Amino acid sequence: MSQTTFTKPVSRQAIPDKGGHFGPYGGMYVPETLMGPLYDLANAYDEAREDPEFQKELQHQLRSFGGRPTGLYFAKRLTQACGGAKIYLKREDMLHTGAHKINNAIGQALLAKRMGKQRIIAETGAGQHGIATAAVCARFGFECVIYMGAEDMRRQALNVFRMRLSGAEVRGVEIGQKTLKEAINEAMRDWVTNVRNTHYVLGSALGSHPYPRMVRDFHAVIGQETKDQILEAEGRLPDEMIACVGGGSNAIGFFFEFLEEESVKLTGVEAGGRSIQDGEHAARFDGGKLGVLQGCKTWILQDGEGQISLTHSVSAGLDYAAVGPEHAFYRDRNRIRFAHVNDEEALKAFGKLCEIEGIVPALESSHGIAHAMKRASEMPANSIICVNLSGRGDKDAEEVARILNKE
Ligand SMILES: *Cc1c(COP(=O)(O)O)cnc(C)c1O
Repeated sequence: MSQTTFTKPVSRQAIPDKGGHFGPYGGMYVPETLMGPLYDLANAYDEAREDPEFQKELQHQLRSFGGRPTGLYFAKRLTQACGGAKIYLKREDMLHTGAHKINNAIGQALLAKRMGKQRIIAETGAGQHGIATAAVCARFGFECVIYMGAEDMRRQALNVFRMRLSGAEVRGVEIGQKTLKEAINEAMRDWVTNVRNTHYVLGSALGSHPYPRMVRDFHAVIGQETKDQILEAEGRLPDEMIACVGGGSNAIGFFFEFLEEESVKLTGVEAGGRSIQDGEHAARFDGGKLGVLQGCKTWILQDGEGQISLTHSVSAGLDYAAVGPEHAFYRDRNRIRFAHVNDEEALKAFGKLCEIEGIVPALESSHGIAHAMKRASEMPANSIICVNLSGRGDKDAEEVARILNKE
């Protein structure tokens, strides 16, 4: 696929279409047995979205339980150190359970309640989405089962314990690589069997329709707040907005409000890993191809036979072979541009933000920070960059210590 030039603007509300298509991307590539439940979910969500009572309750829970609104912080010393554009950080790291993921978990839990479900299941890779889901299940009184690859459970033992503290049952998946991809398959299998009383809380802007749209909508509050906050602080919109992209939920939530603001450049940052060689990274737009994975047509890292490639990133949350379909759509139109940052650069940015701002960023978010530092130094002093600080780095402290000790 070559990148076409931006021709005519599209209304951000017009996509996806009824079948969940973002142009050639997205859709519903699932077994027949899942079509009914997915359509029911799409219909229930469409109704909830238009219901003022649902929206009011959502706002209330985001504030009282989630910790919204989050601040937009001017990183003065980071700005001075880079010498160029002013850098602002959207502080999603301040949210309950430590990252943006709670926005989506709260939204989907309220939807599950509205649909009369009693049981919630979810997949998790590193554990962040599992922790957010377990927390909302405790909060709203749902039975909760989290699927997690056995290998991930071993690497993230503390997160497994945190989920169990909130009353979740964590089921280890002993298939294949024993990581996120296999955990998603098992969660889908459970959902098919138990859909009558069970809702599946998918954790990123990925998978079959209606998830990419629904997850995007639940995170759009990030960009809405950012717009008000930057207008208040600077009296104008930023020149560039930057967010890391795993499945793409924090990024699309951050960008959505700005898609039709043509003066604002939008940049997604993927994980460059150790190098851009097969198996060494997770930059789907650098080495990926069009394909179908877990319900959705999008850019995927795969070999010539369509086998999903191994991926690597220092940050578990960016380490996935597929990217959200909406990102692929806007990339074709040159509306969202993509860059990648490697492990070493992300670790440097992590250290820098700790040292000169007193903020410990998640390793995922550190990819966005690293790219912002690069960009800021190339831009004039009166320009403005907003970066989405998607989560806090407490969860990564041990891993960073281990890497530093090795060096
Ligand atoms: C999960 C996670 C990500 C990656 O997921 P997206 O869906 O791409 O946002 C990024 N940052 C943090 C802190 C995360 O926990």
